[in-house]
Amino acid sequence: MRVAIIGTGYVGLTTGVALAYLGHQVVGLDVDREKIARLQRGEIPIYEPHLAELLHLARPNITFTTDYAAAIAPAQVVFIAVGTPSLPDGNPDLTYVRQAAQGVGLHLGQEFTVVVNKSTVPIGSGNWVETLIAEALKTRTDAAPVQFAVVSNPEFLREGSALHDTFYPDRVVIGTQEPRALEILHTLYQPILEQSFTPPSFLPRPAEVAAVPLITADVTSAELMKYAANAFLAVKISFINEIAQLAERVGADVTQIARGIGLDKRIGSQFLQAGLGWGGSCFGKDTAALIATARDYGLGMAIVQASRVVNAQQRQWVVEKLRHILKILKGRRVGLLGLAFKPHTDDLRDAPALDIAQQLLERGVGVRVHDPVALARAQREWPKLDVHYCEAVETLAQDCDALVLVTDWPQYRNLPWEDLAKQMRSPLILDGRNFLDRERLRRAGFTYVGLGR
Ligand code: NAD
Repeated sequence: MRVAIIGTGYVGLTTGVALAYLGHQVVGLDVDREKIARLQRGEIPIYEPHLAELLHLARPNITFTTDYAAAIAPAQVVFIAVGTPSLPDGNPDLTYVRQAAQGVGLHLGQEFTVVVNKSTVPIGSGNWVETLIAEALKTRTDAAPVQFAVVSNPEFLREGSALHDTFYPDRVVIGTQEPRALEILHTLYQPILEQSFTPPSFLPRPAEVAAVPLITADVTSAELMKYAANAFLAVKISFINEIAQLAERVGADVTQIARGIGLDKRIGSQFLQAGLGWGGSCFGKDTAALIATARDYGLGMAIVQASRVVNAQQRQWVVEKLRHILKILKGRRVGLLGLAFKPHTDDLRDAPALDIAQQLLERGVGVRVHDPVALARAQREWPKLDVHYCEAVETLAQDCDALVLVTDWPQYRNLPWEDLAKQMRSPLILDGRNFLDRERLRRAGFTYVGLGR
């Protein structure tokens, strides 16, 4: 099928490259000229495992452009995958969705087209996008009426395993009551739903994946489903973090508690790793958006609110623990291991590392930072943050009073801990993800401090 993807960020690019690999003819469209120029050269502007390799394989089926007319007019399916960042009142900023929808209306072709809201958008956005397209269509002077349908198809991929999640999703959700649109999207996703494609060698099909459930829903339910999913996950993490706070006070170990409750199938072990809290582009903004929507309908969303409060506390907890141990923070030197909001990505949106670095700087601490992939991006995106960026972990540790593990990059597990301990002023490590091998660190001479254990 002929597909246009508006927005070639984490979601749009992953979706576009995956659909091209499956044999669809895809055009990736973005207003960011530099991004498009890089993609045209075969470069990937973000860090996402295997995306470059997959783009190479999919290359004959995908092109990139900044030209709306060229991308939209021939498309049978148009995905809107632009950003929806938070406004100060918690509502999502829909400026980019508005621009995309207007662009679609101005350039839709004569064939029936399915316009897919893949961006995470608040309830009512299906109708709103439809109206914007219809209004833009009215301004056109070219002849025949154009037929289209707006469908909600929320995205559940996780950065860092985005391609895996696209090829082997737990489910595909399509929100529409228009049979033609459903049929077209069913055909588009058929290779994924039926798992009939040949997997790329670097993304083998997991043994347990035989077919993928298709969940059809009305547009509003599909829209709310995405917010409910993210809010639930945020609540789950904040729940175990709250238990971690109590565990620490009563002398229990939250990692043992998480294991014990996680094996209960009704609870499940994922998202029960206590630590310094969630970050990233989605949980913060989507919980805020859900609360803002509920407010319009007279609801408080107490549980979701509480998850945000606990999450903010976790970031402070790290700094308070450091102060408790070091007594005086002013004049100390602290190294942060990891900047990205989670491993296997260079995404820095709402990264806990930024909050922690700022809190430490405010208290007069000299801050050094390291990340395996996000250093350059951090220097670009946080130009005013007065920290020392270190290419090597050895430089980070030099004369430090403490290290804080912020991002659980797997390579941090096997650092040359003995050497690092010798370079530090005092070998203290605060494991903000309860991720490191506590005994190994103690043997290497570190004072190990976790969260909630
Ligand atoms: P992103 O910021 O990485 O990418 C958005 C892209 O859209 C950018 O390249 C930007 O230049 C482009 N853009 C903005 N306005 C445009 C316009 N008018 N026309 C064409 N391109 C335009 O964002 P993302 O992380 O890919 O997220 C996109 C949406 O998907 C958001 O609503 C987000 O909530 C949702 N989502 C994200 C994730 C995730 O893990 N990142 C997961 C699920 C859902």
